[in-house]
Amino acid sequence: MNNMQERWHLDVQTAQCPSCGRQFIVTGMLSTCPRCCEGVLEADEAVSLPSAASAPELMMPFSLDQAGLEASLAKFVKSVRYKPEGLNTEAMMRRVQRVCLPSYTVTSHVDARWQVQMGYDYKTITHVERYANGGWRTNQAENIKTDWYPRAGHTTLQYSNLRTAAMLDHAKTVSALGAFSDGYTQAYDPSALQQQDVVIGLPTRSPDDGWSDIENQLLSHTVADAVRAAGGDRTDQFEWRPTHTDTKWNYLLKPLYTTYYQDEDKNVVPVVVHALTGAVSGTKHGSMSKAKRMALILTGLAVMAAVVAAVLYFMVIPYVIPIIVAVILLLIAGWQLLSVSNMNKKPIEIIW
Ligand SMILES: [Zn+2]
Repeated sequence: MNNMQERWHLDVQTAQCPSCGRQFIVTGMLSTCPRCCEGVLEADEAVSLPSAASAPELMMPFSLDQAGLEASLAKFVKSVRYKPEGLNTEAMMRRVQRVCLPSYTVTSHVDARWQVQMGYDYKTITHVERYANGGWRTNQAENIKTDWYPRAGHTTLQYSNLRTAAMLDHAKTVSALGAFSDGYTQAYDPSALQQQDVVIGLPTRSPDDGWSDIENQLLSHTVADAVRAAGGDRTDQFEWRPTHTDTKWNYLLKPLYTTYYQDEDKNVVPVVVHALTGAVSGTKHGSMSKAKRMALILTGLAVMAAVVAAVLYFMVIPYVIPIIVAVILLLIAGWQLLSVSNMNKKPIEIIW
């Protein structure tokens, strides 16, 4: 049993994707890389976690069930105009993998001396006399003003549950799929992960990188503590000299379902589903050959309308309507081709 298995209480192997280079902890069989969906994961014992962070402390469950997942994928498939053969819900369901992405959770003990300009608000009421409509009137105006006084103090606090991203693409993932609500957070349960054949992405961002986020959160907690202690309303020029002790880094694991389809040019297109909300993210590529077939049918109908217009012309009957129909059909045909061509120009996006 290696160190990671001991710390994570999981029977795992470490692996790397030969195609995108991403590293994983795998609880089941090695299979297709859930990120790029191109390479097959290869066992790699040299893969290791950042030494600062030890083990998962929290996780979120795969609360979206199979029926919900299927409905989300079906909706995604339906939204693609002129679906390529490779884009179908059943095939995507067969390729689904459960993936956990880590965030860092941090606990820290902070001992800080601080000094600040503390603002205390007070209300002023101004009366203004004004002559209008043949008489004097009084208008009353309320203003909030602030008195500033220097204050200094000392804060000693234990902070838990500070969070920062462990993946460099965290912002991209959240913008594509939406946030992972804290309400789903539960204690780390290795047996649930072991049973579910989960692939866990390894951090791509070091704790050192995340420290500035954590320090900002500690600063805002300390400012709030100073405001509470000094009974002020606002602060300016806050300065502190913090000492951090007992700082511990752990992980919160967030769940995703990943799958993929092949577009008409046999490009592999990853599709990712938020395992709490069912939100789907994936590049949409349509079938150009199906769009061309439709454009051909519309062009044929346009030709028929033009023939009708010509016959009417020779019979000296008004022929404007079939001409308009022919033009509209040609415009629709051109628009179909253009929209699928634009859809297919979008580069395949990987969101984590
Ligand atoms: Zn890969």
